[in-house]
Amino acid sequence: MAQWLTGTVIENKRWNDQLFSIRVEAPPFDFIAGQFVRLGLPGAEKRIQRAYSLVNSPDDPILDFLVTAVLEGELSPRLDLLQPGDTVEVSQPPSGFFVLNEIPDGETLWLISTGTGIGPYLSMLGTELPWQRFGKIILVHGVRHVQDLCYQEHIQRWQHEHPNQLIYQPVVTREVHFGALQARIPALIASGELEQQVGVPLNQAAQVMLCGNPQMITDAKAALLAKGLDKNLRRKPGHVTVEQYWKE
Ligand SMILES: Cc1cc2nc3c(=O)[nH]c(=O)nc-3n(C[C@H](O)[C@H](O)[C@H](O)COP(=O)(O)OP(=O)(O)OC[C@H]3O[C@@H](n4cnc5c(N)ncnc54)[C@H](O)[C@@H]3O)c2cc1C
Repeated sequence: MAQWLTGTVIENKRWNDQLFSIRVEAPPFDFIAGQFVRLGLPGAEKRIQRAYSLVNSPDDPILDFLVTAVLEGELSPRLDLLQPGDTVEVSQPPSGFFVLNEIPDGETLWLISTGTGIGPYLSMLGTELPWQRFGKIILVHGVRHVQDLCYQEHIQRWQHEHPNQLIYQPVVTREVHFGALQARIPALIASGELEQQVGVPLNQAAQVMLCGNPQMITDAKAALLAKGLDKNLRRKPGHVTVEQYWKE
């Protein structure tokens, strides 16, 4: 049964009208980079709770959550309104298998996300594990607008620390942005444009993680399967591991 900790909001950082990060102080707990907890706020009759990936790394004591305020959603618009000093409940223990320990060895690690799906990767990149295990790491972030390209400071710091290892590839679908690709991620995989742009082949030497929008995940899985990369399961190791944030 989940236990609940009371957290105190210390910052609500706005990236744009709908996208924000809430930073929360709570009693410390262990988790693995890539896992999620539930955040809860009181409802009329019972607690309203939803899953959110931890963006901070396990050795960072301040909890960080990257959230989109979903129009007419029950919880996320309320999280959007939280201000420093407000409380939010945090479930225990953390859950999920979207972690690097579940990923087989490979030469390249592709961390492909849409929207807030970049969160678990930020947590992973803040640990030693990906840098020790993979020769090249390709971080792909698909968004609609340039203003959705969050956590640039973190990404630039890692690029500086690992110049030959990290490739960051933004994909912005509704605006032209220097260095960004401008199409849906599954189409970029299928056409070979993504591989061409980053200069790394997407082949059997790759491990691919997909996180975010369910349609992107379904279509990207199909495009990867057509390249001979199949789903990674515990009973049958493969190349593609997914975390879906909501149902289609
Ligand atoms: C393992 C896991 C981790 C998650 N991590 C995050 C995270 O780090 N950040 C985050 O913002 N969300 C995350 N989510 C989604 C989150 O749990 C909620 O579903 C989301 O915040 C909407 O909740 P709500 O109560 O506002 O909307 P609801 O009232 O629950 O739902 C309203 C509708 O919005 C759809 N929906 C849910 N999320 C989105 C979205 N992002 N964009 C468009 N439509 C959506 C739902 O399917 C539903 O139809 C995660 C989900 C899972 C399963």
